[in-house]
Amino acid sequence: MQRWILHVDMDAFFAAVERLDDPSLVGRPVIVGGLGPRGVVSTASYEARSFGVGSAQPMAQARRLCPHGVFLSPRHGRYEEVSRAIRSYLAKHSSLVEPVSLDEAYVDLSDWESPEDVAAAVHRDLPRKVGISCSVGLAGNKLLAKLASEAAKPSGLRIIRPEDVDGFLRPLSVERLWGVGPKSARRLNERGVRTVGDLQRADAGVLHTWFGAKLGGQLWRLSRGEDDAPVVPVREAKSFSQEVTYPEDVHDGELVVAELRRLASAVSSRLVEESLLARAVRLKVRWSDFSTQTRQVSLVEPTDDPEVVADEVVALWERRLPEEGKGVRLVGVGLDGLLPATFRPLSLFGSRRTA
Ligand SMILES: [Mg+2]
Repeated sequence: MQRWILHVDMDAFFAAVERLDDPSLVGRPVIVGGLGPRGVVSTASYEARSFGVGSAQPMAQARRLCPHGVFLSPRHGRYEEVSRAIRSYLAKHSSLVEPVSLDEAYVDLSDWESPEDVAAAVHRDLPRKVGISCSVGLAGNKLLAKLASEAAKPSGLRIIRPEDVDGFLRPLSVERLWGVGPKSARRLNERGVRTVGDLQRADAGVLHTWFGAKLGGQLWRLSRGEDDAPVVPVREAKSFSQEVTYPEDVHDGELVVAELRRLASAVSSRLVEESLLARAVRLKVRWSDFSTQTRQVSLVEPTDDPEVVADEVVALWERRLPEEGKGVRLVGVGLDGLLPATFRPLSLFGSRRTA
C-alpha cells in the first residue's frame, strides 16, 4: 500500500506568534531568544534572516547583524497554547499525528482516498485557523515529507509523488539527509560525494568500507529516499522531576551542586527509558525560611543527555538570587516539554554535538 505522510512546519513560529499578538511587529525583523549575555537566538523572522540572523546564533552576534531588530524573550506558555490549537486541528485529519516540536508534526494520511486534497486543505485552512503561515510537505515517508516541507518554505506546499522522488533528491546536497551533519558532509565531500545523486551512484560496497555496514547501508537507503519509520502518535506532553529534602539545612554550595548532578542523571535516565527528549530544564530550590524558587531554561536542541541536563541545572543554580545566609532545605530537577525521541538525527560520526 502506498503510504502518504504529511509534514507540517509553521514558519518562524515564535516570531510569528509574537506578531499575531502584536501586529505592530508585522514586517519588522523580529528575533526571539535568550536576551542575557549568553543568550542564543531561538527563532528569527524572515526579515531578520535577510540580515544573516539565524537560530542557535549567539544573541550578541544577532544584535550586531541586525541592530534595528525587535528582540524578544520567548513566551513558552503562549507558544504551547498555539501549538495545542495546531495539534487539535491536525487531529481532525488523522488519528496518527506525531508532534516533533511545538510547531512541527507528521500526520499519516495513508487512509485518505485523496491525500493531496487533504494536504492542500491543511495548507489553506491551518493558517486561517491559528493565524500563522505554515509550510507543508506530502510524500511517501517521513524523510521525504520533511524534505518536501523544507523545500516549500516559507508558506508553500510541496508534494513529492513516487515518480518524482529521484528527480527531487538528486540535486540536494548530502547534508540535507538526516544524520549527515557538517562533519559527515565534509568527509563525504572529501570523497567527491556532494549531492544525494553522487551518493546514489556510490557503490554499496564502497559505502560499507567507508562507514561500516550499518551506517553505510543507512546512507545507501536514505540517498534513495527510503524510510519506513512509522508516525507515532504521542501521549500528552508530561514532565519528569526528582527532588531531595535535606534533614538539615545545607550551606555548602558544592554539596548542592553534586546533588543536582545526581538528580539530573537520575531524572534523565527516565527520558532514555521512555524514548523521550526534554525541551526545558527546571531547577527548584527551597530555602531554610521555606521560600521556594523555581528557574527554567529552554534548550536550543531537545536532549536526553544527563550531562547536558546537569550543566543546565547547575548554570541555573549559579544564576540564582543571592540568598545570604540562608541554607538549602530542598533541591529538585525537572524536565519539561517532553517529546518522542524518534526524531533524533542518526549519528554517523559520533554524537551530534561533536559534529
Ligand atoms: Mg518551523
